[in-house]
Amino acid sequence: MAEDIEKVKCLIIGSGPAGYTAAIYAARANMGPVLYQGSQPGGQLTTTNEVENFPGYPEGVTGPEMMLQLQAQAERFETDVRNGWVTKVDFSGDIHKVWVNDTKEIHADTVIISTGASAKYLGLESEQKYLKLGGGVSACAVCDGFFYRNQEVVIVGAGDSACEEAHYLSKLCKKVTMLVRRDEFRASKIMEARVRNTENIEILFNTETDEVLGDGQVVNGVRVFNNKTNEKHDIPATGFFVAIGHKPNTDIFKDYLDLDETGYIINVPGTSKTNVEGVFVSGDAADHVYRQAVTAAGTGCMAALDAERYLAAKDSTFEVSTSTYN
Ligand SMILES: Cc1cc2nc3c(=O)[nH]c(=O)nc-3n(C[C@H](O)[C@H](O)[C@H](O)COP(=O)(O)OP(=O)(O)OC[C@H]3O[C@@H](n4cnc5c(N)ncnc54)[C@H](O)[C@@H]3O)c2cc1C
Repeated sequence: MAEDIEKVKCLIIGSGPAGYTAAIYAARANMGPVLYQGSQPGGQLTTTNEVENFPGYPEGVTGPEMMLQLQAQAERFETDVRNGWVTKVDFSGDIHKVWVNDTKEIHADTVIISTGASAKYLGLESEQKYLKLGGGVSACAVCDGFFYRNQEVVIVGAGDSACEEAHYLSKLCKKVTMLVRRDEFRASKIMEARVRNTENIEILFNTETDEVLGDGQVVNGVRVFNNKTNEKHDIPATGFFVAIGHKPNTDIFKDYLDLDETGYIINVPGTSKTNVEGVFVSGDAADHVYRQAVTAAGTGCMAALDAERYLAAKDSTFEVSTSTYN
């Protein structure tokens, strides 16, 4: 029924660093943002205990604590933060229609998508166990490599990102063992050459993970098997890195927005604009390169500023707020 439709100036989908930063800017610009948190309030960082590379925290901060602070900052400027999962959108007309939990219908002048991406894991029980314990399993070398300085680690993957991450780890760690499932890399020749030419990276082809080993609290090795011979052996390691790709949370947008082959939303370079006017994207949902909290926050800021300017151009009664720069 039409009476049930809520109209909002700015709807933000997602509550990671991108969504909350967009909310802080949009709220301070009088856009009255409504933000839906989705099934993971606070986003990916709520799954990590130590964030040491977000500016402003000289002693580091836990992911959950940092995200509560971002939420509080967004709410301080009266962002309407709500529980709810966006299940459907219709961006075919001038009005951007969004459905929450399949029931509530919202018509938004602007939509900021901050739905992030999820790292893929192997799905082994032992991997998930140490991942949940925060005991040595990671899908982000740039985030967590520092904690394994001068130690031995194992990384799984064969694409460009895996090579990039293995090389990154090789500069911090004593030894990096790279497990490649097939008898060749999927990466570009240049990335492959980089890992092949790095002395402390050992590459094991036709090799898969059988089990992540540990003492019940932290990882202390990885049992691997050769998928040609079925032979198993154990590799001592304190860190197990999984670099087999990410899945952007963008399925619901695929009928309206341009996505790349993996599902990342394609933005107009240098902006947060998508191919649909009034719909903007920020954070990992569009970023397959950097995937960091600070870059997500940066693009959240861009999305709110782009949305503000879009509203101002469309509606002469809407004033671009100077508060953005105060
Ligand atoms: C274990 C781990 C450790 C990390 N450590 C660091 C670190 O130390 N430093 C660093 O800079 N980066 C780190 N990262 C990366 C960082 O977490 C991400 O780059 C960042 O969180 C991306 O922010 P985002 O706002 O784009 O999305 P996300 O944080 O992924 O948040 C996405 C949000 O969208 C919501 N959502 C998704 N779909 C819907 C929907 N349909 N409806 C409503 N809501 C929806 C989710 O509930 C979630 O709130 C780490 C990542 C992981 C997994």
